[in-house]
Amino acid sequence: MMMSVPRLRCGTEIAVHGESGVAAVARAEAIVREVLAQYPGRVALACSFGGPSGMALLDLVLRVDRGVPVYYVDTGLLFPETHALVERAAQRYGIVPTALHSELSVQAQAERYGEALWARDPDACCAMRKVAPHRAFVAGYDAWFTGIRRVQARTRADVEPTARDGERLVKVSPLFDWTDEDVWAYVNEHDVPVNALHGDGYPSIGCMPCTLRPAPGEDARSGRWAGFGKTECGLHLAPQQVPG
Ligand code: SF4
Repeated sequence: MMMSVPRLRCGTEIAVHGESGVAAVARAEAIVREVLAQYPGRVALACSFGGPSGMALLDLVLRVDRGVPVYYVDTGLLFPETHALVERAAQRYGIVPTALHSELSVQAQAERYGEALWARDPDACCAMRKVAPHRAFVAGYDAWFTGIRRVQARTRADVEPTARDGERLVKVSPLFDWTDEDVWAYVNEHDVPVNALHGDGYPSIGCMPCTLRPAPGEDARSGRWAGFGKTECGLHLAPQQVPG
């Protein structure tokens, strides 16, 4: 079993890797190495700096190759704690994460579509502020890494390690089979920086207007777009599995 540095995760348990967790980490690293070898210089790493999965993946990928470009979508509506984590990660890993922005500032969006579009049509808001900048950026690559996992949500239950993402891109989810315990064990073992809001009751963190603390007993993502049926920003909808 891996050595661990026990730290409290969000909640009260101390997460350490079991044997299945050790295997999951090894599997993830093998996926990362294989994809980087297959698309040398052509893979980018998406990190929201909002959840521990993305931070674990950031650490894992940069251990394999410190030169993988890291990016995040700065919607203009992120929490100060998220910006602080970007800075901490930049210093910790010696990286310069690329911030992607919408063509419209938050103010310009309000002038064109009215105030607080997220409260009336979050799909349209996410499409402009998140999906469009992301799509434009990854179009310059062959593949992109994401930290999404099967256990995070029903919409993610079928996540595969690699999936076709549109006509040409490949979306790679090395942590596809990690449990929450696997993620926190990895974070603890490698002293990975995480968003300070986890310590304030936010397990899943996106934009300020669309992120609440989940009610007791509710799943971790239930505080996202609360009051809407929406569960995804659009970056991860309906990928197709890569054959073979
Ligand atoms: S998460 Fe909310 S505020 Fe952020 S882009 Fe989506 S709808 Fe807009």
